[in-house]
Amino acid sequence: MKNVNNESRRSFIKTSAKATLAAGISAAALPSFAENIKFAGYNGQKKSTPYTQMPLAYNYNALEPSVNAMTMEIHYTKHAAAYAKNLGEACTAENINTQTTPLEMVLASISKYSTKMRNNAGGHYNHELFWKIMAPQSSATAPAAKFSDLITRDFNSFDAFKTQFNDAAKTRFGSGWAWLVYTNDKKLVIGSTPNQDNPLMDISDLKGFPVMGIDVWEHAYYLKYQNKRPDYITAWWNIVNWNFIQQRFEANV
Ligand code: MN
Repeated sequence: MKNVNNESRRSFIKTSAKATLAAGISAAALPSFAENIKFAGYNGQKKSTPYTQMPLAYNYNALEPSVNAMTMEIHYTKHAAAYAKNLGEACTAENINTQTTPLEMVLASISKYSTKMRNNAGGHYNHELFWKIMAPQSSATAPAAKFSDLITRDFNSFDAFKTQFNDAAKTRFGSGWAWLVYTNDKKLVIGSTPNQDNPLMDISDLKGFPVMGIDVWEHAYYLKYQNKRPDYITAWWNIVNWNFIQQRFEANV
C-alpha cells in the first residue's frame, strides 16, 4: 500500500511538473512568483500570459457595430503589436528570461524596471486580456449565477455595478483603463489606471486581480466615435464575453 502511495505521489509530482512546464513557467520561478503576486488567489500555478501576441479568436469585423473593423485591425496589428515588440526589447535589455519569468511577476515588481518595461508589459498584458473579454454580440451572455451573486453582494445590483464601471471609464482623464478587480480582501472593486498601468503593478493605487477592463485610449474608439467616449462605453457592454470572464474568475481567485 505504501508503495502504491509513493508511486501515485511520484506520478502526481511528475504530472504537476509537466503542467507547469506546459504553462511556460519553470518550477524554479514558482516560489518567487507566489511571493511577489500579492493579489487574491494567484498562487503561481496558473497559466501566465505569453509574452507574444496570441491570435484573435474572431475576425476584425466580428465586434461590429460596437467596435468597427478598422479600429480592431489597427488596434491589434499596430498598437498592441507594438507593445508586444517593445516588451520583447525591454526584456532583452533588462535581462528578463521570458521562458522562466511569468509576465505577471514582472508586473508585480514593475517598480524595479524601466518606464519602457512598465508601458509595454502593461500594454501587452492589458490588450491580451481585452481581446478575450470581448466576443461577437451574438455570443455575448449575462454573468451566470455565482459571479452575478458576487456583483450583487458588492454593488447592490447589476445596474449599480454598470453605472460605477461606466463612471470610472468616462472619468479616467486622458488615456487609460477602467477595471473590475478582485482584491486581497475578496471584494469586487471598480477603479481605473492611467496609461498602460494595471492593478497587478506594485506602483498602482488600484490593486487586485483584473477581472475585466475597458481600454479608454482614444485609439480604442476614435475612428467610429470620435470624442464621444460615453457612446463607445455604452456600446461596449453588448460585446462583453461574460462566459470567459466567469471562467477566468473561477480559475484564478
Ligand atoms: Mn489599446
